[in-house]
Amino acid sequence: MLVTGDIHALSSAVSGPVALPDSPGFAEETFAFNAATVHRPDVVLGAADAQDVAAAVKWAAERRFPVSVQSTGHGAELAIDGGLLINTRRLQDMHVDPVERTARVGAGVKWRTVLEASVPHGLLGLHGSSTDVGVVGYTLGGGLPVLGRAHGFAADHVRSMDVVTADGELRRIDADAEAELFSLMRGGKGNFGIVTALEFSLFPFSDFYGGGIIYPGADAAMILAAFRQWLATLPDDASPSISLLRLPDMDFVPAPLRGQFVVHLRFAFLGNREDGDALLAPMRAVSIPLMDTAGPMGYLDVDQVHMDPADPLPFADGGALLKDFDDETVADLLELAGDGSGCPLLLVEIRPLGGALGNAAAVPDAVSGRDAAFLLFLLGFKMPPIAEAVSASIRGILAAMAPHSTGYTLVNFHGEPGDEADRARAWSPAVYERMRSAKSTYDPGNLLRFGHAITGTPAAG
Ligand SMILES: Cc1cc2nc3c(=O)[nH]c(=O)nc-3n(C[C@H](O)[C@H](O)[C@H](O)COP(=O)(O)OP(=O)(O)OC[C@H]3O[C@@H](n4cnc5c(N)ncnc54)[C@H](O)[C@@H]3O)c2cc1C
Repeated sequence: MLVTGDIHALSSAVSGPVALPDSPGFAEETFAFNAATVHRPDVVLGAADAQDVAAAVKWAAERRFPVSVQSTGHGAELAIDGGLLINTRRLQDMHVDPVERTARVGAGVKWRTVLEASVPHGLLGLHGSSTDVGVVGYTLGGGLPVLGRAHGFAADHVRSMDVVTADGELRRIDADAEAELFSLMRGGKGNFGIVTALEFSLFPFSDFYGGGIIYPGADAAMILAAFRQWLATLPDDASPSISLLRLPDMDFVPAPLRGQFVVHLRFAFLGNREDGDALLAPMRAVSIPLMDTAGPMGYLDVDQVHMDPADPLPFADGGALLKDFDDETVADLLELAGDGSGCPLLLVEIRPLGGALGNAAAVPDAVSGRDAAFLLFLLGFKMPPIAEAVSASIRGILAAMAPHSTGYTLVNFHGEPGDEADRARAWSPAVYERMRSAKSTYDPGNLLRFGHAITGTPAAG
């Protein structure tokens, strides 16, 4: 238990604000984008810089006090209960090097900020469906990009990182310095330390063609069948995905679509109008769209591809890697989540993997699931009157789809972490065992025990 002297010691070791549950600023520092999750640490630090993170972790280590980290709260799957929460949102340093084609960002930087600096140089980063997500949390979870089939996982392209390990030491690690830690941090999530800065590759591009087509939900069976055939015709620099959407009557939904059940095809392609139109033509012919926004697009509008909600909302989610998206898989999914199924979820999404996502990283990392063909991802709003039904539906659909799954997940799409066996499903067994061993080395006191945390290998003897 903390006493006043402990709080004084923390406050005098750092320059950022320290807040207790009854102090002003506590709610702001602990607030998560996923508003269904309310964090209740014993104390929160708004870290001002990397030295603050190191001093705070050292402070916690001396007291064997658990530590957690949050940047945006997009990945707030489980409430943090007790301990010290370090909020990294003030770590906003960023440098884009257009010659080396790299970016170096502080742990509070979001993808939008990177793109605003890199796109004018004709360079893009491997962000996901929403550029409001934090670069570091996303990349440590592997980072499945919108253009993943072209370039692979974001974690594969990290050059170096600055990390404060559980002993409070700030280390710069890369493929040569602390190679095993560097390997396991990329895809191993926040299990081994708190990253204060990340350096990663950027990719040149010229034309971008993106957007989406929204079809009536009644045509879902026909559209999913056509989608599967069409995928085989696409080059790797085209990354599509498709979802069944039950759109709420809310402001972030375009007015004509509010309250409707629809199918949403998303399309992102590194090419020009002529080639993009030619690739998309078969899907434009399959049914009469309610909306078609696909075409040449300024890259900074890339959030229009997936149209994720931009404002905080309460949600629950979950996912599974699929072996295939064959007739039987499609039929089972439609029975569970199609028209007339009573499914309460906002989104039932299929993201094709393959292309560069199937290649091993040049510098090996912890990202697993490269053998999977598709990702199934489910998300629902935890709002009355469906709040209770949402989590049950996610569990039910994942259980019913288990025969089509590889049995594994991607950590960024895993959803609420369950028991040890459930958590382990985010990595291959070989990687998981290496992670347990590294946990014993880098966090023997299990200070970093929140979120999708694993436990170390018990000491021999
Ligand atoms: C709208 C939306 C769209 C998304 N799209 C994609 C997508 O296309 N592809 C994809 O791969 N993922 C996607 N995600 C998942 C997202 O990448 C994860 O939720 C990720 O963890 C968010 O990171 P964050 O830092 O923004 O969130 P936070 O909630 O702040 O952090 C989540 C977790 O990341 C870890 N973490 C964060 N910062 C640090 C740090 N400095 N050091 C160590 N660990 C840290 C911690 O474990 C923390 O609990 C999406 C999520 C949302 C809500």
